[in-house]
Amino acid sequence: MRTADCLNNMAPYLFAQIDKKRDALKQRGIDVISLGIGDPDMPTPDHIVEAMHDAIAKPENHQYPDYAGSLAYRRACAQWMEGRFGVRLDPRAEVLALIGSKEGIAHLHTAFANPGDYVLAPSIGYPVYSGGATLQSAQTYFMPMRADQGFLADFDNIPAEVLSRAKIMFLGYPNNPTGAVATADYFDRAIAFCLEHGILLAHDNAYSEICFDGYVAPSILERPRAMECCIEFFSLSKTYNMTGWRIAFACGNAEAVGALGTVKNNLDSGQFTAVQDAAIAALTGSQQCVADMCAIYQRRRDLVVATLRAIGLECEAPQATIYVWTKVPEGQTSEGFATKLLEQAHVIVTPGSGYGADGEGFIRISLTTPDERLVEALHRIKENM
Ligand SMILES: *Cc1c(COP(=O)(O)O)cnc(C)c1O
Repeated sequence: MRTADCLNNMAPYLFAQIDKKRDALKQRGIDVISLGIGDPDMPTPDHIVEAMHDAIAKPENHQYPDYAGSLAYRRACAQWMEGRFGVRLDPRAEVLALIGSKEGIAHLHTAFANPGDYVLAPSIGYPVYSGGATLQSAQTYFMPMRADQGFLADFDNIPAEVLSRAKIMFLGYPNNPTGAVATADYFDRAIAFCLEHGILLAHDNAYSEICFDGYVAPSILERPRAMECCIEFFSLSKTYNMTGWRIAFACGNAEAVGALGTVKNNLDSGQFTAVQDAAIAALTGSQQCVADMCAIYQRRRDLVVATLRAIGLECEAPQATIYVWTKVPEGQTSEGFATKLLEQAHVIVTPGSGYGADGEGFIRISLTTPDERLVEALHRIKENM
C-alpha cells in the first residue's frame, strides 16, 4: 500500500518523541521527572465533575449531539465572552463547539487552504499550525519570532508571492511556548494587515485565563474590525484542567465559523452533549477555581525562575501561561542541553528547536508538575549543571 505524500512530509510529533525517551529510561527503573508536556496535574474542579455525573444520566444526551454544539453550550460560550471581554456574539452564527482547540485548528486548514496555498505561522509555535497545513498539502511560511521583538511574530517582510497565496495567519498570545503576551497595538496591526491582504486571522487563545501579577489577557475580538477577519479559539483544557475532556469553542467572523462548521459537519458528529453540559457548568459557575489555579502556577513560576537565575540561565518571568522559556547555557544547543538534563538529571524539558527554527537556543519548562516533584527536579538540575 502507499500512504498519501502529505503524511510522509509530516515532521515527527514533538511530544511523541519525548514520551519515547522517557519510557525507555523508566523501563530501566530510573525515576524521571517530566517538565515537558503542558498537561495540568491538578484535577478538574468538583462542581464540573458533578455536572458531568448529572448530564450523563440524561437519556436525551445519549443520542447524536448537535453538530455545531448544543445551543445551550454556544449560549454559555457567548455569555462568557461578553462577561469576560465585553465581546457580543450571536451564539448561532458566531460560535462553534469543538472537540478541543487542536481539532478546530487542524480542520481550519481544510476549510481555507487549497493544495499549494500558504498558511502563515509563527516560527516558534504550536505544531498543529503548520502540521494541519501539511496534511492539506498546503505550505507554511514561518514568520520570524525574536526575543528582542518580545516574541511577537513579524509579518512585515513576507514575500509577495507568498502573500498572494496566503489564506490563514495563526497567532497565539499569551504564547505557548515563549510565555509572551501581545499588545493591543500589535493586534491592531495584525488585523489591518490581514484585512489588506484578504487573510483570515486565527487567534489561539488557550491561555487567556492563566495570568499572573494582575495581568489580564485580552481577546483579539475586542479590537476594532476584528469581527471582519478573525476567528478565535478558546479551550477549556488548561483553564479548568480539562485536557482529557476534549472541549473547546471557536468564535468570531460568521463566514469563518460557518466554513469550519461545514468541514466538521462532514467529518465528525460533534462532542458528547454531556461533556458540553459539564463545560456549561465550568463557564457559568464560580471562577474561583481558576484564580486558585493561577496562584499555584504563579508560585511554581517564581520557584523555577529563581532557580534558573541562580544557576546562571537567562529568563523572563512570564506574565501568563504554564511555561517558563529560558535560554540554554552559552555554547549549547536546545537539543544538547535537553538531552544533558534528561541523561544526567533525569528531568525532561522541551527543546525550543522542536517548536521551530527560532526556538533554537531555548528550552521550555512546564509548570504542570506537583510542587514537591518540581522542587526535586529543580534541585537535580542545579546539581547537574
Ligand atoms: C494546550 C493548547 C491548546 C488546547 O488544545 P485542546 O485541543 O483544546 O486541548 C491550544 N493551543 C495551544 C497553543 C495550546 O498550548
